[in-house]
Amino acid sequence: MLFIVFGTKVKTEDIGGGEFFCPSCQAKRKYVRKRAKNYFALYFVALFPVSDGGEFIECQHCGRSYNPDVLQRKLSKPQPDVARLLNDVKSRLEHGYPVEYMIRDLTDDGIDLDVARNIIHMAIGDQRKICPECELTYAPNVLGCADCDRTLRDGQEK
Ligand SMILES: [Zn+2]
Ligand SMILES: [Zn+2]
Repeated sequence: MLFIVFGTKVKTEDIGGGEFFCPSCQAKRKYVRKRAKNYFALYFVALFPVSDGGEFIECQHCGRSYNPDVLQRKLSKPQPDVARLLNDVKSRLEHGYPVEYMIRDLTDDGIDLDVARNIIHMAIGDQRKICPECELTYAPNVLGCADCDRTLRDGQEK
């Protein structure tokens, strides 16, 4: 298979295959394990995370590429309890937990930053309270900053 990288053709070789759980498709899919064969290929694969050997896993359904680590994930579809996560996030934020800390917690759990922001948006909308002192932001019902005890002012999602 050939990839085009800034006009340069890049060769990869297929070195295996099987089934995996594709994080993009959110389903079990066929994959081909590939290895990039030259410098330009490495330049290409640098656009997404790959193992040191320049190997990567390509989903045969959506065509996305992944680090071979993806194979270690469970084959069965994980059932993230979105409703429960949302509830938990909402409840913690409404009890005065700063939005910025929540984003950090979610991303520490391996959730993408954009997804974390989305979850928070779904949980508490786009209205925020902002601390005039430390600029941490809070759910709209929160009155005081957990960090410096200041009274919060009205604001918007950043
Ligand atoms: Zn896929
Ligand atoms: Zn503060």
